[in-house]
Amino acid sequence: MRYKGRPVQVRPFVFYISLVHYRRTPARYFQILKNTEMRLLLISNSTNTGEAYLDYPKNNIREFLGNKKIQALFIPYAAVTFSYDEYEEKVKARFREVGHDVVSIHHFTDPVKAVMEATAIVVGGGNTWMLLKCLRDNKLIAPVRKKVIAGTPYIGWSAGSNVTCPTIMTTNDMPVTAPSSLKAFNLIPFQINPHYIDANPAGHAGETREQRILEFIEVNRDIFVAGLREGTMFLLEGRKLSLIGPRNARVFSYGTEPKEVKAGQDLSFLLKKRKG
Ligand code: ASP
Repeated sequence: MRYKGRPVQVRPFVFYISLVHYRRTPARYFQILKNTEMRLLLISNSTNTGEAYLDYPKNNIREFLGNKKIQALFIPYAAVTFSYDEYEEKVKARFREVGHDVVSIHHFTDPVKAVMEATAIVVGGGNTWMLLKCLRDNKLIAPVRKKVIAGTPYIGWSAGSNVTCPTIMTTNDMPVTAPSSLKAFNLIPFQINPHYIDANPAGHAGETREQRILEFIEVNRDIFVAGLREGTMFLLEGRKLSLIGPRNARVFSYGTEPKEVKAGQDLSFLLKKRKG
């Protein structure tokens, strides 16, 4: 093609414009070309009070991973007061119960390669600051993001759900260590607050969870926060986001009243950039 007498290369130009204009990453292009869908199971908490570890979400995990046995790569970096071996054992036991398995990343000499070769990625809870620091120190942010965008299933609970957000700024954890940045995998465009709780104990003058999130959206006005109550989880399959579990989620957005959303409701608004 010629424009004003000069030859014009249309295709690279179109690619450039869509890359810049729609802020598409090369990984997103890869996903479009391969026609794969991003799949995430983002669980609020590992354990409901009085139940065994990972017991309540085990059937969701089974369904999410499918009938064919999968050995997922487990990332135990959120552990602080217990060992990676102990953590792997606990998770392995539950995954085996539902016909799957995990192997922890700490057994591999090259963690990036382990991620690139994983059939599924599982990130456990614990301390979110420690988790992000270890992910960053091991240079795993970009590889995990790329793999998951290209269709590798991702399961996270608690801290493992926090790191799928743009940042870890809505964690409940104390910053016991300092990661090089607060930026996380940025697989979803909104923030999750796991273990979301409404209670405001009598005689306690500290901030409620809602007050803390209202502070976050006052300063970060362009982003939704979803308070994910215990016993619930988000399932993302491509462009479809759903809430699973017996409780509503509470969605916060600057300038509007917090809103309760239910299982079965269309939550695609959370995947769009917040307007206004
Ligand atoms: N400490 C939580 C977890 O269990 C994360 C959080 O509450 O933000 O991983």
